[in-house]
Amino acid sequence: MVIGVPKEIKNNESRVGMTPAGVFELVKNGHRVFVQSTAGIGSGFSDQDYKMVGAEIAASLEEVYQKAEMIVKVKEPIEQEYPLVKPNQVVFTYFHFASSEALTRAMLDSGSVCIAYETVEDKDGSLPLLTPMSEVAGRMAIQQGAKYLEKPIKGRGVLLGGVPGVAPGKVLVLGAGVVGVQAAKMAAGLGAHVTILDVNMKRLRYVNDVMPPHVVTEYSNEYNIRKHIKTHDLIVGGVLIRGGKAPNLITRDMLKDMHPGAVIVDVAVDQGGCVETSRPTTHQDPIYIIDDVVHYCVANMPGAVPYTSTVALTNVTLPYVLKLADQGWEKACAEDAGLAKGLNVLHGELTYQGISEAFGWNE
Ligand code: NAD
Repeated sequence: MVIGVPKEIKNNESRVGMTPAGVFELVKNGHRVFVQSTAGIGSGFSDQDYKMVGAEIAASLEEVYQKAEMIVKVKEPIEQEYPLVKPNQVVFTYFHFASSEALTRAMLDSGSVCIAYETVEDKDGSLPLLTPMSEVAGRMAIQQGAKYLEKPIKGRGVLLGGVPGVAPGKVLVLGAGVVGVQAAKMAAGLGAHVTILDVNMKRLRYVNDVMPPHVVTEYSNEYNIRKHIKTHDLIVGGVLIRGGKAPNLITRDMLKDMHPGAVIVDVAVDQGGCVETSRPTTHQDPIYIIDDVVHYCVANMPGAVPYTSTVALTNVTLPYVLKLADQGWEKACAEDAGLAKGLNVLHGELTYQGISEAFGWNE
């Protein structure tokens, strides 16, 4: 199969869909790989690194899309790429369709086969291609939150770890999934007091078992959320409803109950956000303030640490890329039910339920 790895063109996105190690495996299995010139540079991989393992370097984005039977990338195609996607072309990447009707319509119109990383499942129902990026974003959420709690960067001037004689900061984590647990772990490591909420008792039991005593679990309901936002300094949104829009657990009217200068890092913003006032921001302009509450809502947080993120992502995507390249998408999906769950758009039809619900197309 001919595989194309385009350079990411989304704002401040320096990750790349495949490392030289991945190209090495594909070429070894008899495939051709076109890597767009400088595609890997932001993650620390030169054209020469790719050439040495057998990649062919393509001069332009257009050339990659034109030559490839399967595109392997990181973020969803953006407007400039919509017309480049061809009928029958397999596009294997993060799509997050539920948060963009324009993208969904463009991919439906393209006649392509869109396999979304974020809905591919493991045998146990977990999401193996979302996990590493959630791990990165969860850990980063505390790094970013701690920064924006500083006064010169608009925060309330709280040091998360406190100091002897001064109580530590308080971190509220919504969702005890991958993002939530990694955020809680980092915050706890800094010495902050952590409250973590979820509706899944299994997750709360797990967190309660593995975390130190200054990480407290509580059930997620409106009563508890309203109670805790009054006292916490940093709130991390890590809630996920699979394939659908995140629920607005913090509504606009609740912001006035928070400390002035408190910070919300809504990691779930890529699925619409779990805070009503969240809207996607970029690394260039990451925050905005509403009712004295700092909102950090960068939709591609791992893009800021491209080396770690690229290697972590390709560690988990490569086995699927190999399967798709070796067998073709139809056979690969027929043999691997978890991979088949990644099929979101197939030749002009939506094949993943939550998406049409998010746009009210079923009503
Ligand atoms: P996950 O499935 O591991 O965890 C989600 C958790 O939310 C689950 O434990 C679930 O029980 C819980 N949940 C559901 N409804 C809830 C409610 N009402 N209250 C509290 N908890 C509730 O998902 P994840 O991998 O941790 O991802 C979380 C979100 O972060 C996703 O939207 C993902 O796309 C996003 N994400 C964003 C970035 C970014 O750069 N902004 C990076 C990675 C992941």
